[in-house]
Amino acid sequence: MTKQPAGPGQWRNWAGTATATPARWAQPRNEAEISAAVKEASAAGLPVRALGSGHSFTPAAATSGLALDLSLWTGVTAADTETGLVTVRSGTTLRALSAALAQIGLALANLGDIDAQTISGALSTGTHGTGARLGGLATQVEALDLVLADGSLVTCSASAWPELFAAARVGLGALGVVTTVTLRCLQSFTLIADERPLPVEQVIEEFDSLAAANDHFEFYWFPYGRNALVKRNNRIPADGGSPVPARMPGWRRFWEFEVMENAAFGTVCRLGRAAPRLIPALGRLSSAALSARSYTDASYRVFVTPRRVRFVESEYAVPRESLPGILAELRRAVPRLAEPVMFPVEVRVAAADDIWLSTAYGRDTAYIAIHQYTGLPYQAYFGLFESVVAEVAGRPHWGKMHSLDAGRLAPLYPHFDDFRRVRAQVDPEGRFGNRYLGRVFGPPGSSITD
Ligand SMILES: Cc1cc2nc3c(=O)[nH]c(=O)nc-3n(C[C@H](O)[C@H](O)[C@H](O)COP(=O)(O)OP(=O)(O)OC[C@H]3O[C@@H](n4cnc5c(N)ncnc54)[C@H](O)[C@@H]3O)c2cc1C
Repeated sequence: MTKQPAGPGQWRNWAGTATATPARWAQPRNEAEISAAVKEASAAGLPVRALGSGHSFTPAAATSGLALDLSLWTGVTAADTETGLVTVRSGTTLRALSAALAQIGLALANLGDIDAQTISGALSTGTHGTGARLGGLATQVEALDLVLADGSLVTCSASAWPELFAAARVGLGALGVVTTVTLRCLQSFTLIADERPLPVEQVIEEFDSLAAANDHFEFYWFPYGRNALVKRNNRIPADGGSPVPARMPGWRRFWEFEVMENAAFGTVCRLGRAAPRLIPALGRLSSAALSARSYTDASYRVFVTPRRVRFVESEYAVPRESLPGILAELRRAVPRLAEPVMFPVEVRVAAADDIWLSTAYGRDTAYIAIHQYTGLPYQAYFGLFESVVAEVAGRPHWGKMHSLDAGRLAPLYPHFDDFRRVRAQVDPEGRFGNRYLGRVFGPPGSSITD
């Protein structure tokens, strides 16, 4: 069953920041084939990585061993519209999942900016959206099925193997191949989206109240600009409340999201890359040109937008109360960088959770994501950012660029060694290892204090 998919044998991620040449590929169509592929790789002494959609900026999925392409392992296998419990195969994209849920009157409670990721890839790196009272995607998980290194298929949940469940919901693919995910979904809901520019000082001053007053609050700040683009998405009140804005017509959706946010912004970015000295002025222009819009739509259509302009990204989770200080530091330091920054900074929020390697473990969190247009230098900017967030025990997104290793990560996570213990138990030989996991966890089976 192990076969090479059509196309060259190389693997490359969306951002072009990671490549790999797997020795072997498999496209399993059921759990028995996933298990057989893992056993065959084990017999051949090959490491194994499950592939998602390749949307991690880190080489989390890269392997020189067996690449498990799960694109034939998709679809919803069970759904209870009363309880909202839905079981989905791990290779299903969030887009396909949202569409399938909409057909039965259900929806995910929250989503990030895009929906191209697979459910298992998104969970594995701790993917999140925004909402002060909501956790990341992994907090919506009720149970997981995994194929372990010995080829066995196991189930974990809060009651069945709870330690594996605490580890595997954000597991970086280090514990096994997730085969199905059971999620707790909500009844379909509609969001009112309100997006408008506000002075960045005002947004920072009112950050806590804006986060508390809205179901989903985030803002973008263009370095060099005075304005932040504030996005507030709120559910339509049950009593109907005051009149709500209309759905955005198809032509306007195309104009706003495809033409303005992608085509026009892409042109501005290319201009900046060709003439970097113009970047601060272009940033000020982009900031000044921000305009307001309000519309209503199904939740999953409001949460995500197309992202066609390629970029590199780093994102850190910080204690929520530290956000104003960090932004003040960035606003001071970024204009002094020798190499200017083309892309905005994105700020989001999430509630504390109890998932061992969740970036929001144990603390109400603000996420700060920084980006740079592809092809422009980013190292000094990302390095500066890392030194600022290190002061407040910032935790890097597992799927976005960062330089931390096991020694730096261990003190940031109270259950880091528990995770490593469970990993040593279920994968003593490090079958699911790769270079990235070697950096962030150290060698399999060893304690960080070894
Ligand atoms: C344009 C863009 C926008 C983004 N927006 C957001 C956002 O809003 N919020 C956010 O938090 N992140 C965001 N991300 C990051 C992204 O959500 C994560 O990096 C996510 O992990 C990508 O999912 P994927 O399916 O592409 O997985 P991949 O990147 O392919 O893989 C990620 C990890 O999951 C593992 N994996 C995949 N499938 C399985 C499986 N079945 N079993 C075990 N392990 C598995 C892989 O081995 C790898 O370690 C964004 C990324 C991009 C490029």
